[in-house]
Amino acid sequence: MILVVGGAGYIGSHLVKELVEKDEVVVLDNLSTGHREAVDDQAIFVKGDLGNEEDLDMIFHSYPIKAVMHFAANSLVGESVVDPMKYYQNNVASTLTLLKVMMKHNVKNFIFSSTAATYGIPNVNIIDEATPTAPINPYGHSKLMIEQILADFSKAYDLHYVVLRYFNAAGAHESAVIGESHDPETHLIPIILQQLLGQREKISVFGSDYDTEDGTCIRDYIHVTDLASAHILALEALLSEKKSAEIYNLGNGLGYSVKEVIETCERVTGVKSNVEMADRRAGDPARLVASSDKIYNELGWKAERNLERIIADAWNWHQEQRY
Ligand code: UDP
Repeated sequence: MILVVGGAGYIGSHLVKELVEKDEVVVLDNLSTGHREAVDDQAIFVKGDLGNEEDLDMIFHSYPIKAVMHFAANSLVGESVVDPMKYYQNNVASTLTLLKVMMKHNVKNFIFSSTAATYGIPNVNIIDEATPTAPINPYGHSKLMIEQILADFSKAYDLHYVVLRYFNAAGAHESAVIGESHDPETHLIPIILQQLLGQREKISVFGSDYDTEDGTCIRDYIHVTDLASAHILALEALLSEKKSAEIYNLGNGLGYSVKEVIETCERVTGVKSNVEMADRRAGDPARLVASSDKIYNELGWKAERNLERIIADAWNWHQEQRY
């Protein structure tokens, strides 16, 4: 049985939908940002907090958990700058509590959601796992701190872990039953699609004077279902003892500028957007593009879904607007 912490959130709920086909799943989520309805019916759902030892003890006592996947985190860069306490409390202190209870119950397999934000402003065009980490905001720091804790726990307590550094997660489940639903929404693709549906007046492009071809920021967008499949492979690698302490990037290896994403959304949906140029957003690096060669070479994973597919699936879901 696998414990998925944060399994009601955007990425967690997509993972759970795949994982229930392979194993028994318990989801722990406090529903602060997640949606109960997004959790697949085949999973057991426990409402509770990963920072609460009693909630965790109850789960580890009640279920034969062999591995934990941890998706429960705050993940907004801007918010982390104005409220770092929240980020260190929820992303670091609570995760430490989770790890402590895992060690107590002798559960030694852990998959951790990390981020491209650990790289800060890299001075390479394609980021691989050897690129130095140098976060530029509390969100990135909070994730890197846990990566360090995992490395130390692995040596001291024989914890086995895989860290997955996501680039820009996007898209929705192909069934359109679950998708990306944040409130407030800050992410580019949902904002564009909401505008195309008439739910917002305009799209603000944050900065058009970056050192990129068209002046807007370049990101590597990765379909949430591709992220889910990477987790399943990472889990298999841990449980088969093929891997015990690894970090992998998860991206497409392709960069798209904000303008290119808007154009692709218009092309895929056939709807014209209303765009304004705006100031830069604090803390945005000009370009973040992943090399995912390491996980391809070691676990055989690569992204299967391109930007058009990401947008098409997201568009299907946005028109239904469920969870
Ligand atoms: N962005 C934008 N307008 C928006 C939201 C985002 O121009 O309304 C830009 C943002 O500055 C970044 C890119 O789109 O360059 C992706 O931003 P998002 O928040 O989706 O993901 P992030 O890269 O911050 O994780």
